[in-house]
Amino acid sequence: MCDQYRKCVKCGVSAAQDPFITFHRFPKIGNGKPETVLRSRIWAEFSFPNQNSADINFLKKLHSSHKMICSRHFAEFAFSNINKMRINKFAIPIDTEHILQRLQDEAGPTHHVEV
Ligand SMILES: [Zn+2]
Repeated sequence: MCDQYRKCVKCGVSAAQDPFITFHRFPKIGNGKPETVLRSRIWAEFSFPNQNSADINFLKKLHSSHKMICSRHFAEFAFSNINKMRINKFAIPIDTEHILQRLQDEAGPTHHVEV
């Protein structure tokens, strides 16, 4: 995908505006592993708080339509290398711990997922 189309769904910054920012695509749901769905829901609620993140098709669409969040919304430790090109498999945006907590509470203790 060409860099000029990269844009953050959260803050709207584009690669053209800041060459040092990296963009990270929404997680691929695939076969719907609980930890992947949970992570995707956190990204979704962070970016689109008015949407229903329980809708699996919505989550799939975020990935299939190449939606991205920029590196500004992740802590240093979320990146798996120094130039921030890759993000930790379980990374969630900064200040989304309350979303994680709520979703885990909704799922109940038997569905507790470590991220
Ligand atoms: Zn951003």
